[in-house]
Amino acid sequence: MTAEKKPKKKVVKTKTPMPEQDPQVRRHNFEEVPFGYTPAMAIQEAERCLECKKPVCIDGCPVIVDIPGFLQLIKQGEFAAAARKVKETNTLPAICGRVCPQESQCEAKCVLGNKFEPVAIGRLERFVADYERDNDLIEIPGKRPPNGKSVAVVGCGPAGLTLAGDLIVLGYEVTIFEAFHKPGGVLMYGIPEFRLPKDIVAKEVNYLTRLGVKIELNQVIGKSIAVEELFEDFGYDAVFIGVGAGLPSFLGVEGESLGGIYSANEYLTRSNLMKAYLFPNYDTPLVHGNSVCVLGGGNVAMDAARTALRLGSENVYIVYRRSRTELPARLEEIHHAEEEGVVFKLLASPLAFEGDERGMVKRMKCQQMKLGEPDASGRRRPVPIEGETFDIDTDLVIIAIGGQANPLLTRSMAGLELNKWGNIVADANGRTSRKAVWAGGDIVTGSATVIEAMGAGKKAAADIHSYLTGGGNGEWSPKKEE
Ligand code: FAD
Ligand code: SF4
Repeated sequence: MTAEKKPKKKVVKTKTPMPEQDPQVRRHNFEEVPFGYTPAMAIQEAERCLECKKPVCIDGCPVIVDIPGFLQLIKQGEFAAAARKVKETNTLPAICGRVCPQESQCEAKCVLGNKFEPVAIGRLERFVADYERDNDLIEIPGKRPPNGKSVAVVGCGPAGLTLAGDLIVLGYEVTIFEAFHKPGGVLMYGIPEFRLPKDIVAKEVNYLTRLGVKIELNQVIGKSIAVEELFEDFGYDAVFIGVGAGLPSFLGVEGESLGGIYSANEYLTRSNLMKAYLFPNYDTPLVHGNSVCVLGGGNVAMDAARTALRLGSENVYIVYRRSRTELPARLEEIHHAEEEGVVFKLLASPLAFEGDERGMVKRMKCQQMKLGEPDASGRRRPVPIEGETFDIDTDLVIIAIGGQANPLLTRSMAGLELNKWGNIVADANGRTSRKAVWAGGDIVTGSATVIEAMGAGKKAAADIHSYLTGGGNGEWSPKKEE
């Protein structure tokens, strides 16, 4: 008898599209842009997976989600089980499914992407997490019995939340200390509602508190409580620092202190965390410009520009000193901003701001640039074209050129090694130069991504566990990077 040959699977070349709000409608509201997959769409997309013997997609995921495993469960219509599969290693799937740069991570590795579009892993991750939450199917996993050890986490962003989630199930008592009045870090105060609804962030955080993680809000560590006190007075066995890189950078050009010029951090925090976008229900003041210039080309710049549009600004410009190819924002964000009517003024760099008689910004002088040779980052360096300048009339400027480490906590700690930018020096497992103190996320790497911060939280959690199960008195020798 001859063995029957398995029929060759027909490859669907493109991703199943995800329905979304019309650009002309959504530019006037703060509701989420994509609607997400239906169950039928999710199954159709999961069926594109080739079930590779060596699933290289997993190599692109910093938290090592079993991607083919959860896709297989989607194919079988087992959506809640698929969500639980993702949650085995990723405590924030509804967030990652929305904001992770999958195109440069798991989807960049997917073999289907060699010839066609990769499997839409991010959209499917979002689908299963939403399905589980919306159908009230979230289950709280079992935990190991209390082991008598406690860990303090400073900062309630993705790094701290992930670490807390991993340690709580291992039997640790975990408390997160957060400076703001709401948990979530950038997920709550930075990324706008139309990209990441805040009730989804709140529910993912709630999953962790239901697991037993305690969150102390309005606690600025380094000011209200010192790190030393966390050990000596509160008796914690280990401290993890995940305070992010929320200190805004400025340009240092003439007129930058005029009224109407904001850092993106302040602008987005006022809109997201202090709900200025819900005016008049909330009375947080925020300048509504008619001609808005957003300086920078990353995700933060796209978020600020799209927020300004939604707050009623007539003309919104992204002013960026390189060309479109070098824009650091995710392609999807650039595409969405363009569709909504944000105008890109490329190869332009601000030289000075001019104000009116009330001290409010009214004009920005720009230098026209061209691209030169690649710099250390591998991107072509912007070079001024001599004598070519131009003006833009503007009544609101938002500076979105990156964040730095806030020195408040790090300066309050003796013996904590910092690099020249003020970021904490930590080894691959997050160990710092201070005994029993770990760090991870943007405070170590500088501004990066949600999933990288989560990956750092995971590694530090594993290392804290191995250190404390060894008694916590072991040798403290962070491995230096070569
Ligand atoms: P954070 O998220 O910054 O959280 C740190 C927390 O620590 C904050 O809540 C802060 O209030 C708290 N804190 C600070 N100091 C203290 C203190 N002394 N005591 C107590 N608490 C303290 N990444 C993506 O992957 N995709 C995106 O689409 C994306 N978009 C972004 C859009 C914006 C507007 C911004 C600003 C960033 C974006 N990022 C994006 C980057 C991403 O959000 C960050 O890399 C990530 O949040 C870093 O996580 P973290 O845990 O290190 O720090
Ligand atoms: Fe499926 Fe792509 Fe992963 Fe292969 S690499 S298992 S096709 S998602």
